[in-house]
Amino acid sequence: MHEFSICRDILAAALEEYRALDPAPKRLKAVRVVAGGMHQIIPEYLATAYGILSRDTPAAGSKLDLVIKPVTGRCRECGWEGEIVPPFFQCAACGALAIDLMQGRELYLDRLEVEDHEHERDQGL
Ligand SMILES: [Zn+2]
Repeated sequence: MHEFSICRDILAAALEEYRALDPAPKRLKAVRVVAGGMHQIIPEYLATAYGILSRDTPAAGSKLDLVIKPVTGRCRECGWEGEIVPPFFQCAACGALAIDLMQGRELYLDRLEVEDHEHERDQGL
């Protein structure tokens, strides 16, 4: 399950960002990750990995939101651009197998959702 190694990297990056927040928030609510279709992540496996790996860290109890971007490519023969469904890297217009990937390999931390002390104080009024 490669979701565990992907999750380990995501969690490390998220915790680093979280700890750098100033002023320090009260807790981490959610982490949003953008992943291209090339990574072939199974969302349920990633969520499971996140639940296990985030235990005993400040991310415990937070949610992992996964946004999957479709794989798109451009044909070197005819210039066609569109969505590719791995593992078939073929041009939908001319049938050539000369596809340059445009999108689908990305994998990054998009945003953190946090709850801060200020917010909680406001709710009490
Ligand atoms: Zn083509």
